[in-house]
Amino acid sequence: MPDPQLILYLRNTLTEALFYEKKGQEVLCRLCPHNCTISPGKKGFCGARKNRGGKLYSLTSGRIISAACDPIEKKPLFHFHPGTQAYSLGGLGCNLACKHCQNHEISQKRDDSSLSQMYEMTPEQIVVNAMGKGCKTIAWTYNEPTIWYEYILETSLLAREKGIKTALITNGVINKEALEYLLPHIDAYRVDIKGFSNEFYKKLTGFPFLKRVLESAELAFHKGCHVELVTNIIPHWNDDKTHIERMIDWIKSRLNDGIPWHITAYHPAYNLHEERTSTELLEKIYMLAKESGLKHIYLGNVYSSLGSDTICPACGKKLIQRCAMSMEENLLQNGSCPDCGYRLKMFQ
Ligand code: SF4
Repeated sequence: MPDPQLILYLRNTLTEALFYEKKGQEVLCRLCPHNCTISPGKKGFCGARKNRGGKLYSLTSGRIISAACDPIEKKPLFHFHPGTQAYSLGGLGCNLACKHCQNHEISQKRDDSSLSQMYEMTPEQIVVNAMGKGCKTIAWTYNEPTIWYEYILETSLLAREKGIKTALITNGVINKEALEYLLPHIDAYRVDIKGFSNEFYKKLTGFPFLKRVLESAELAFHKGCHVELVTNIIPHWNDDKTHIERMIDWIKSRLNDGIPWHITAYHPAYNLHEERTSTELLEKIYMLAKESGLKHIYLGNVYSSLGSDTICPACGKKLIQRCAMSMEENLLQNGSCPDCGYRLKMFQ
């Protein structure tokens, strides 16, 4: 028999979504910059929100497609409780359509039969599971968390009461009002900056949302959320030196030169079959970022002697050693370098 509490929860959460307006029988979803106008019986672009009888419902609240315990470093989050585990949850749908999506089997699903493959988990169960498995953080990941908005909000409120942290692993494509409302309840915002031109965003993701993404990252940072950035480098698509330099300038001027920036290698997936990114290319970008004054640059999806450990920006001492996206050693003492006393912005 299904848990009566769960049935009650689902009945309640399958109510109206947040951030929408009624337009007669149509609805206007204001959660993300698609601002979908949705007719009765239809879903928005993301596939996770549906107009039923002139009201907008979240179809995926209270339901997940995958759950796993991962090292927080796999998100990747390198300056947020290093060496701990994250209870990682994924759902269905996405508000982008990236050509190289590695999780396209869940992110690009739109049919109702896929939704029925999701299994139920209440916010209370998520928090209990995270605690039971010894996870410090709940990470909303695998697909885009924005479209799970109501579920995330409710779970985050409960998680905070129990001392569990929450992290959004996000593409940053969310409207300002919705993000502003959510941020006080979220601890970490790991956001993709996929490239640094609208043309590139349109070509890769289907939509020219660069400005919105940058504004989301800036808002999260200035509201005090822990922010880390990821850029997946695709040869000849987003590796133009001028664009990389503009991105570095933006990080320094609009965020902070100490923000962790993860530069990762692309490999062919889904609908994109370009050559893989070489280690040499990533190392070249690493050196450019370092010489431009960024303090914490990391490389992902490659074997390199650069960009996996955390180095003291003041004296060059290795502070945190990592291997294969897990922490091996942490020499920080009360958040500071044991040799020179430099204080890192690191949640421990
Ligand atoms: S969240 Fe979904 S339904 Fe709402 S505007 Fe974005 S894509 Fe459209």
